[in-house]
Amino acid sequence: MNDFAQQLREELDELHASGRYRTLPMLAGGGVRRRLAGQDVLVFCSNDYLGLATEPVLAEASNQATTALGTGAGGARLISGNGELYAALEQELAAWCGYEAALCFSTGYLANMGVLTVLAGADDVIASDALNHASIIDGCRLSRAEVRVYPHGDVTALAGILRAASGARRRLVVTESLFSMDGDIAPLAAILDVARQHDALVVVDEAHALGVYGSHGGGVLQALGLGGHADALVGTMGKAMGSAGAFVAGSRLLVDVLLNKARSFIFNTGLPPGVLAASLAALGMLRTDGVLRRERLLEHARRLRYGLGELGFTVGGESYILPVILGDSQLTLTWRDALLEEGLFVQAIRPPTVPVGTSRLRLTVSAAHGAADIDCALEVFSRVLRRLGIVRAIPQLPP
Ligand code: PMP
Repeated sequence: MNDFAQQLREELDELHASGRYRTLPMLAGGGVRRRLAGQDVLVFCSNDYLGLATEPVLAEASNQATTALGTGAGGARLISGNGELYAALEQELAAWCGYEAALCFSTGYLANMGVLTVLAGADDVIASDALNHASIIDGCRLSRAEVRVYPHGDVTALAGILRAASGARRRLVVTESLFSMDGDIAPLAAILDVARQHDALVVVDEAHALGVYGSHGGGVLQALGLGGHADALVGTMGKAMGSAGAFVAGSRLLVDVLLNKARSFIFNTGLPPGVLAASLAALGMLRTDGVLRRERLLEHARRLRYGLGELGFTVGGESYILPVILGDSQLTLTWRDALLEEGLFVQAIRPPTVPVGTSRLRLTVSAAHGAADIDCALEVFSRVLRRLGIVRAIPQLPP
């Protein structure tokens, strides 16, 4: 082997040794009942929380737009990739979340990159929650601001960081609302208060909350009566909306600046018309069918959380994202494989997605599940528990 190949091999060996090696699961079919490597599985690790990804109304809208307008945007939006579907979608997204305007990005990853690099620069300080998503972390890094990480949800520590940053040109706080891997909710009212006291901007990533939280599904801020209060809201359309893409909502001024300065917007091909049409149809479905789907989702989450608790598991968070923290990566993989053998597909989430020592099974429920699916999942957990002989999953959060 030449040197380079040898180095690559060693990198993979290290990942294997630490239980962090990853492979792509080969899934067939859609929705919560699929085939994985030829085996029928019940999926409990999708972010399609409301089951909209397999909703025929979305597929129909997407097909029509694709037939009429083509499969690809053909260019960046500032060149030739823009169109009426974008305008309609952005208007609806902004109104949905309680903002003046919104700007779509191709992914949530790019949206976080865009908003953070535009709002913060070398003379600024960003205060970022310790459990923020990788796209937020990377956006912070790319901004070249000084990044100060505060312990998860710790508003007192956040206040300390902002106080110490009084000399910076600009202070910015960034947090998720519903945390993707922990299923808990940031103390947004307190964060907004502290930020205002210290003249700091606030960016809230509502990727996992949109569609479910809030009177109209417009997010946790909306649920708290604080819709429109953050300076920017990041939303994604690939989760509860069952489509793809993302957006930043804010003032018209902010959107104009993003459009002119966010490199992840400017230098990126627009989304395909079919995706935009599916997102618009999802917003329509949320208006007609959203409450029912939300209720079904939350009932499933309650049932699964309770059942896992009865079995002796400690389940984190307070939502339809149910982390069972096992600590060790290998143990988590053992559990994933054992559940899979019984037809239950739950992913093992390991570092660097989560902090070292907090590897976990991350279960998510969907409105597409039936009550019998939840019971089935609990039976599988019970059987695997007997087989593996681990009586209790102990949460091992680092100090
Ligand atoms: N923000 C959060 C909180 C996320 O969990 C994710 C993706 N899981 C993203 C942003 C990125 O979104 P996308 O997948 O659209 O790039």
